[in-house]
Amino acid sequence: MLKIVNPATEAVIREIGEDTPETIAAKFKRACAAQKAWARAPLAGKIEAIGKFKGLLAKNIDKLAATLTSEMGKPITQARNEVNGVAGRIDFFVENVARVLDEKKVLTDAAQKLEEAITHEPLGVIGNISAWNYPYFVGSNVFVPALLTGNAVLYKPSEFATLTGLAITELLYEAGIAEDVFIPVIGGASVGAMVLEMPLNGVFFTGSYATGRKIAAAVADRMIKLQLELGGKDPVYVCNDVDVQAAAEATADGAFYNTGQSCCSVERIYVHEKIHDRFVDAFAKTVEGFTIGDPADQKTYIGALTRPLQIEVLDRQVADAKKRGGRLLTGGERAARKGYFYRPTVFADADHSMELMREESFGPIIGIQKVKSDEEAVSLMNDTAYGLTAAVYTKDRARARKVLAQANAGTVYWNCCDRVSPRLPWSGRGHSGIGSTLSTYGIETFLQLKAWHLKG
Ligand code: NAD
Repeated sequence: MLKIVNPATEAVIREIGEDTPETIAAKFKRACAAQKAWARAPLAGKIEAIGKFKGLLAKNIDKLAATLTSEMGKPITQARNEVNGVAGRIDFFVENVARVLDEKKVLTDAAQKLEEAITHEPLGVIGNISAWNYPYFVGSNVFVPALLTGNAVLYKPSEFATLTGLAITELLYEAGIAEDVFIPVIGGASVGAMVLEMPLNGVFFTGSYATGRKIAAAVADRMIKLQLELGGKDPVYVCNDVDVQAAAEATADGAFYNTGQSCCSVERIYVHEKIHDRFVDAFAKTVEGFTIGDPADQKTYIGALTRPLQIEVLDRQVADAKKRGGRLLTGGERAARKGYFYRPTVFADADHSMELMREESFGPIIGIQKVKSDEEAVSLMNDTAYGLTAAVYTKDRARARKVLAQANAGTVYWNCCDRVSPRLPWSGRGHSGIGSTLSTYGIETFLQLKAWHLKG
């Protein structure tokens, strides 16, 4: 049985039966049997169902946000933001899917009586193994375009977002998606591994680098489509010409929103020496102003950590940073209350000898390091195996472009951070993953190509 725990109270909310190899094989069989008819069904019907799903999310937002908060510890206002945010992604996919699916004639040569064209076909039955930190976003980035393009989906929500996964499933069915076309698989890591044993036509994974490696190894022999959206150690560089207070507030939000549990959370900050002390002061004051507490309370900004395991990671990073000369400005320990709460933590005088500046923290902690020049900042920003996002704060657009052009990251930000757009590809480099969701690339990724050479 899978125990669903409220991380803010440590109480068990529900116990749910997990899938077994037999139930997963039966689900896979059902999906295979249904997929071809779903692929042939008119796009208009698929769009209509996904449109209804969008409406149901809005209609049920109070219940959905409360469920997400209860199983994940996400502050309720942020849970509502997430559920609301799916609408923009659905709109993008719905508006662009027909254009992506259209046959593309690339040559019509009357003299040679030759035509060349490209068509797109769904992959088939795909497995979607998902993370818990933004279950609506990372889930819908996959299942919405996958369904619109005619795939069937075996969807394994994270064991830390199971109730949300089931709520999503119910609403998709209510919206008209057939029960054999989208099928949830319930359980933890071992159940995820069982899903991979099915002869899937594609695997779309969101989670940690450590698990991503295992997934890649598990499917390596099969030559199927594999997409991995993994972790990050996302840097921000704050130049000497900024409005210090505004930059401190914006980057603190980028680091601590969702209690620091975002793949694109700001995880390390480099600050030009000319403004360093003022920035650190303003940053620490901003963080000290954050309200930590009951995630169900509208006023809460820092909720509970979803997994108790993360407390060990944070404790280890704090001890290591202290040992290596880091200056603890605030936090550095669990909050004195029941539940998996950790005080928002800020270290100044951080450097790359510290785990805090090298390993993904995935929690409410940040290291700040002083730099002398843009060159030094770029070199430190790129001193990582990850490559999800990188940001720079400066008034000078040309300077920002120069810095960001050198950043080895799939997404770059000027005067913003921790931001995702449905119109832009979400793709990591290095240990941050392979492939892309969102944008038209995030529709194409669920399709296989057919090249037509037509003579006569
Ligand atoms: P995780 O790797 O622990 O688990 C992710 C999923 O994989 C879960 O559903 C889990 O049950 C399953 N799983 C675990 N071991 C498995 C195995 N051996 N075989 C098959 N499935 C297995 O990650 P998490 O803690 O859920 O999520 C946090 C991580 O996800 C962070 O590193 C974060 O940066 C990353 N993330 C990345 C993105 C992105 O878009 N790049 C988005 C959100 C989260």
